[in-house]
Amino acid sequence: MLSIQNLTKTYPGGVRALRGISLEIPPGMFGLLGPNGAGKSTLMKILATLLDPDTGSAHLDSLDLIANKNTTRQLLGYLPQEFGVYPKMSAIDLLSHLAVMKGITNRSERKELVEGLLQQTNLWDLRKKNLGGFSGGMKQRFGIAQALLANPKLIIVDEPTAGLDPAERNRFLNLLSSIGQNVVVILSTHIVDDVSELCSRMAMISNGELLIEGSPAQTLETIKGRVWTKIVKTDAEREAIEKSLHVISTHLVGGLHAVRVYSESSPGDGFTAIDADLEDVYFLTLSRHERN
Ligand code: ADP
Repeated sequence: MLSIQNLTKTYPGGVRALRGISLEIPPGMFGLLGPNGAGKSTLMKILATLLDPDTGSAHLDSLDLIANKNTTRQLLGYLPQEFGVYPKMSAIDLLSHLAVMKGITNRSERKELVEGLLQQTNLWDLRKKNLGGFSGGMKQRFGIAQALLANPKLIIVDEPTAGLDPAERNRFLNLLSSIGQNVVVILSTHIVDDVSELCSRMAMISNGELLIEGSPAQTLETIKGRVWTKIVKTDAEREAIEKSLHVISTHLVGGLHAVRVYSESSPGDGFTAIDADLEDVYFLTLSRHERN
């Protein structure tokens, strides 16, 4: 269990990136959802020992992550937002090199580990290709391979799917979900579908504050039966709805506006009930937070 207590961080210049975040994170996939600037990377960097908080603590079982950086690094797999690679090295050479840096000095043990990880991340056929020629998705999968090198107990993945095409994203998410259930995996993202497809537990942060925490299903319960939709043909009709109802979001569908609103009872007037999804929770929570 990863236990985070009251973490705060203010950057020089005065930006309050974290305003007292506390979270209990069990083994399995945990989604940390929030818009850009919410404080996700700041939190990920603190957990990855790259940044010190101003106050607060983080423990993985009994290990104090902030006080014991060296021990923490040995059981940590971290995939940063931008994973830099040596463009002129092949995947297999760089992974072997990183394995040496992690202290895996026995040749045959290292070979077995590196080859296994290249297969697990579906990079076996690309192992001799220079990393400079890798696509975004291939680089992210290589990032996971290196994050798994030390048999980590805590895996931190910061905004991994931004910029991936749908097929690459799919492959990447499948890879993440195949990682053991005994490991704490934190996936930070602003993409709601990453969390709803993959994570058994989640939290939402904005402006350095924790807004919700629970399973995606629990958060959906809070708005069940209160989301309604209608296809709207004109801008004038859409604007009239925005004035009179609580609009959650508007999506274009074939050039028409599909408006989703939050309402305790049916708004009538052509609206039909629709199953709430995590994106509804996300937009509603953010708009309530902004109004406060
Ligand atoms: P997210 O990962 O959710 O996009 P960040 O943790 O990167 O959010 O940023 C949170 C806030 O802190 C933002 O307002 C951002 O501009 C600010 N910030 C991030 N890094 C720094 C830094 N090194 N110096 C000053 N401000 C920063």
